[in-house]
Amino acid sequence: MDNCIFCKIVDGTIPAKKVYEDEDMIAIEDINPVAPHHLLLIPKKHVVNALDLAPEDDRLVGRVFRVAAEIARQRGVEERGFRIVQNSNADAGQSVFHIHFHLLAGRHLGWPPG
Ligand code: C5P
Repeated sequence: MDNCIFCKIVDGTIPAKKVYEDEDMIAIEDINPVAPHHLLLIPKKHVVNALDLAPEDDRLVGRVFRVAAEIARQRGVEERGFRIVQNSNADAGQSVFHIHFHLLAGRHLGWPPG
């Protein structure tokens, strides 16, 4: 999609620190981390947010969660814990309108979120 920053990261036009890639998704280091481990899991398909998911995306979302858990294991943060966050629309703080899942770990994460 034109003018989508995450489509450009997916196709390599805009650089990012990629830590994982398969045929359906990438994972990158967030450019502005809010935790010691702050990754973004980004489906390659341009989906706006959770409201834009289609039934055929069910497998993709499941894969995102499995890959996030695997990255947490690789980084040794699985026992202490981690959080997977998807922000949809303004009140949730979505700033990039290409669906992505934050993986946050490495510090105590407060609840409820701000
Ligand atoms: O959930 P939200 O849409 O607010 O998250 C967007 C995230 O994308 C932010 O955490 C921001 O730091 C990150 N980002 C990035 N690289 C960019 C642009 C945004 O990691 N080039």
